[in-house]
Amino acid sequence: MAATIEGGNRDAKAAFWMPFTANRQFKQAPKVFVSADRMHYQTDDGRQVLDGMAGLWCVNAGHNQRPIVEAIKAQADKLDFVSSFSMSHPGGFDVANKIAALTPGTLDHVFFTNSGSEAVDTALKIARAYHRVRGEVGRTRFIGRARAYHGVGWGGLSVGGIGRQRKDFVPLLADVAHLSATHSLEHQAFTRGQPEWGAHLADELLTQIQIHDASTIAAVIVEPVAGSGGVLPPPKGYLERLRAICDQHGILLIFDEVITGFGRLGTPFAAEALGVTPDLITCAKGLTNGSVPMGAAIASQKVFDAFMGLPEGAVEFMHGYTYSAHPLACAAAAATIDVYKDQGLFERSARIAPLWEDAVHSLRGAAPDVIDIRTHGILAAIELAPKAPGQASRAGAVAQKAYEDGVLVRLAGDALVLSPPLIIEETHIAQIVDTIAKALREVA
Ligand code: PLP
Repeated sequence: MAATIEGGNRDAKAAFWMPFTANRQFKQAPKVFVSADRMHYQTDDGRQVLDGMAGLWCVNAGHNQRPIVEAIKAQADKLDFVSSFSMSHPGGFDVANKIAALTPGTLDHVFFTNSGSEAVDTALKIARAYHRVRGEVGRTRFIGRARAYHGVGWGGLSVGGIGRQRKDFVPLLADVAHLSATHSLEHQAFTRGQPEWGAHLADELLTQIQIHDASTIAAVIVEPVAGSGGVLPPPKGYLERLRAICDQHGILLIFDEVITGFGRLGTPFAAEALGVTPDLITCAKGLTNGSVPMGAAIASQKVFDAFMGLPEGAVEFMHGYTYSAHPLACAAAAATIDVYKDQGLFERSARIAPLWEDAVHSLRGAAPDVIDIRTHGILAAIELAPKAPGQASRAGAVAQKAYEDGVLVRLAGDALVLSPPLIIEETHIAQIVDTIAKALREVA
């Protein structure tokens, strides 16, 4: 039995094999948080750290939102668990309705999962099964995109486009092709919001159709704004073109809104802010404000109806998780959606975005190494010139310095990425920007 962390024995941290972490390096200088409130974490050595990442793109309403905490407690007292396989509880229906009320178009049918990865794999399975129930059995291929992150399930990894995350796990799904990423330093550097250049990249879907034939393609999946790949807003007209090509060729369009969902762009889902409605949306993270694991794949009426044409008594979609619509997650999600509404957080996000974008763009020139700044809603990336292969990234050193100075930011390759809670105030924005500016001057 290993010693406890409190015992101060470094081996006490060996049993927890940490995800997406350099485990041995972490253990040299562990970042351990013991509590959180609104915009701040408190570390185990008593420091306050401003959360520039909303946890991990998820605590959109800020930490320790009392209505969410109380709802989880009350639910735990009442009903700990019930399966949703051929039974359920009122919370599942309630939250599904609340989510459907936030989605655009006819995206009204909610399939619950426990994470974004599961939401993505669920959406991909819905897409294949949708074509199959309609008799188009040849439509099995998925089109993803370079620099996309769609989680770590086999499906999400296969359509994802970040090579270092894929390479150890091949072979992935066979029937997958990728579009190019939409980012270009040459044409888009220092753009606020959607870049003018790049809509034509959507036409690569036509090339895929030429190569594979539309009759083999089930779905295209994109993040409306790519997040983990480095905050890459879609070029103006790009998503509209993808939508039009999908429509012309009977291909489903999936928006992975695990990051962009729940207010990042000032609307419940980015689909609304960007004016393009997909056939399926995936979400997670902000759905419960990060408080209890939960995700969802949301299907349009057209997609749902195809399944409901099966003979009555048939299980229409042979898929599900033990914890789909878990009572605690449902209580957390219902309370979270109420908090977003009652505290006007989507509107607040829209209102504060111009100030946020101005502030982050003021870092242009803060150090010669800053080669791009991208912002979209309450999202941002500050990209630094890469170092020679094998040398530690500058961005990593800047993030570490910012952390020591009290601001938590995240890395995406050579970019620092920011996604703070939507309750952020002007003073927090100033603190984030000043701290990064200082770190850039001192370290980059
Ligand atoms: N999809 C997107 C766009 C994401 O950003 C993430 C996580 O960051 C995922 C899917 C995977 O979500 P999870 O880590 O909850 O499985």
